[in-house]
Amino acid sequence: MPDGPPLARVTWDRAGLHRNDDAWLADAWSRARVLLISPGSETPVDGDGRVQLRPSDEAPDGPRRLLGIVDDVPTFAVTAAPDGDNWRTLRDVGGTVGDLSGGLLATAIGLEQWHAKHPHCPRCGALTHETQAGWTRTCPVDGSHHFPRTDPAVIMLVHDGGDLALLGRGPKWNPGRFSTLAGFVEPGETLEGAVAREVFEEVGVVVQDVRYVASQPWPFPASLMLGFTARLVGDPALTLDPVEMAEAGWFTREEIRRAADWADDDPAVRAGDRRAAADARPDGTRLVAVPPPFSISRYLIDRWLAGES
Ligand SMILES: [Zn+2]
Repeated sequence: MPDGPPLARVTWDRAGLHRNDDAWLADAWSRARVLLISPGSETPVDGDGRVQLRPSDEAPDGPRRLLGIVDDVPTFAVTAAPDGDNWRTLRDVGGTVGDLSGGLLATAIGLEQWHAKHPHCPRCGALTHETQAGWTRTCPVDGSHHFPRTDPAVIMLVHDGGDLALLGRGPKWNPGRFSTLAGFVEPGETLEGAVAREVFEEVGVVVQDVRYVASQPWPFPASLMLGFTARLVGDPALTLDPVEMAEAGWFTREEIRRAADWADDDPAVRAGDRRAAADARPDGTRLVAVPPPFSISRYLIDRWLAGES
């Protein structure tokens, strides 16, 4: 197994101590590379689906946010309107973008989404402005500072201790496309408590032996996905929450491995295309596709398929 899920394998110097230093920032900009990000979270990519950074003197005017220092080069994100037909979102290029670019892109999208959705001071309602190289917003009326939010969410591979894992399908997903269960952590709750609560709410079974595996930023708009495994105790019979779950079931490793192969071979199947899915399951099996390889859901699934739990 690779060392951690995609978007979470590479760290860089986020240069937090320089964010308030205007002289340093001006010099850094003069020799920076720039990742352009649109209000719709798109960025320009090359023909192989890799992010194209630009020199700062070729970047359009727009809010500048310091992503950090990568291989001694200051790297910024700048908000810009798409200027070509090669702009894609992280959802489109998550499988090709690469570990470092994926991390930079997740950071740039997270900041862009937060700034766009939080223009006002939560204390007094005044319009705030960006400060600290894009890492805070400051209120001109009361001087308060506001920080980008990150929402913890748990995502869990539930297994029976043997050859069965629990996968579910949300009501917006096409038939055949299943994933691990997930949900947001509530105030006052532990991560382990959130795993057990979400599993019980969504499918009505009890788990224990909740083990942390890995995390992955997922900036749509602000989630930090915290990946776990958990083991069934007691009755495996499922009682679904009809709002959250259209379908759920226990599947064998063989069934899940086959669905993963189908989905990886055929993007239409992976996306939940009904006709492609029907073609892919000549024996009528319910499970046709699992999430794509860059998702933490798939990372948890692949680990379990490899015998780790
Ligand atoms: Zn204010």
